[in-house]
Amino acid sequence: PPYVANEARYDKMPFRRCGKSGILLPQISLGLWHNFGHNADFKNARHILRQAFDYGITHFDLANNYGPPYGSAEENFGRIMEKDFRPYRDELIISTKAGWDMWPGPYGNLGSRKYLIASLDQSLKRMGLDYVDIFYHHRPDPETPLEETMGALDHIVRSGKALYVGISQYSAEDTLRASQLLKEMGTPLLIHQPRYSMFDRWVENGLLDVLGDEGIGSIAFSPLEQGVLTDKYLKGIPEDSRVAKDGRYLKKEQLSDEVIAKVKALNEIAKKRGQSLAQMAIAWLLKDERVTTVLVGVSKAEQLADNVKALDNIRFSKEELDAIESILRN
Ligand code: NDP
Repeated sequence: PPYVANEARYDKMPFRRCGKSGILLPQISLGLWHNFGHNADFKNARHILRQAFDYGITHFDLANNYGPPYGSAEENFGRIMEKDFRPYRDELIISTKAGWDMWPGPYGNLGSRKYLIASLDQSLKRMGLDYVDIFYHHRPDPETPLEETMGALDHIVRSGKALYVGISQYSAEDTLRASQLLKEMGTPLLIHQPRYSMFDRWVENGLLDVLGDEGIGSIAFSPLEQGVLTDKYLKGIPEDSRVAKDGRYLKKEQLSDEVIAKVKALNEIAKKRGQSLAQMAIAWLLKDERVTTVLVGVSKAEQLADNVKALDNIRFSKEELDAIESILRN
């Protein structure tokens, strides 16, 4: 039977304005980095996406190289778009990116105008879309002039292939420059996508201030530290976990005794709040209004159900914040 979206999908999900823009984003967004490639179970991927939209998650985040193999998350997303989401296209914010190695030779990587425009054309074909809502430069390129990269983003918006643009992993200084260049061109920077979690707080050291001052939104990636900030590794390494299944980005060695001790202590605070640790880790990021949305990944629909409940309580008492701080500082 054809997919019919849950009629109550907008009843519960809270939305936040993305910087000083016209776009509102759900406080939780879904990323397709893992679990959506040709190596993944297609039925499960489709089930997760349907469930996400039923919860009011209107934002799906992709990149040219998500898979594996590269491009395959976009291909699968395109199939699911066709099967399920075509009638809902105007209710969705779909993003993709280019910036990491994608095809051989000097034009398939980093930040040239050549690479960004060709890559977006490929992404649109794979996803079966006329345009994406947000196109990102995926990481800074120290060799290409920022004027060229931002000029490419501006051109992409003017050509109608993306409605808005973003940058990812840019430092506070480069973000300010990028924002100023784009403003001059008349294509304001919508959003920054930094890594941000209880265990990785570099954005608190200047970037969030730039975003707040410039009116740029933000979307925090790897908010659960790829699953470390959940209760899943407290009793060893489950067979169906990212560490066991796919050691490319999250390695066993990262689960040191010190890390697990912190996770245990945080888990106790979460329990006292009546939350899972995953929920508390998400809520903790949303306590700052400059964080527009938290970009989670999930391997199962149940994890998404767990994560969405974070939004029932994103308030922290001073005592809770202090207790968390003393664990993280340790
Ligand atoms: P998370 O930190 O949310 O980790 C996701 C993983 O954590 C899941 O795959 C699952 O792993 C586990 N998990 C999630 N929820 C739960 C839960 N409730 N209970 C137990 N385990 C849970 O994010 P990701 O690292 O996946 O990144 C999210 C998104 O951010 C990506 O999909 C991508 O869109 C974006 N991103 C952007 C980058 C950039 O450079 N701009 C870089 C990296 C990511 P398991 O497999 O063990 O079940």
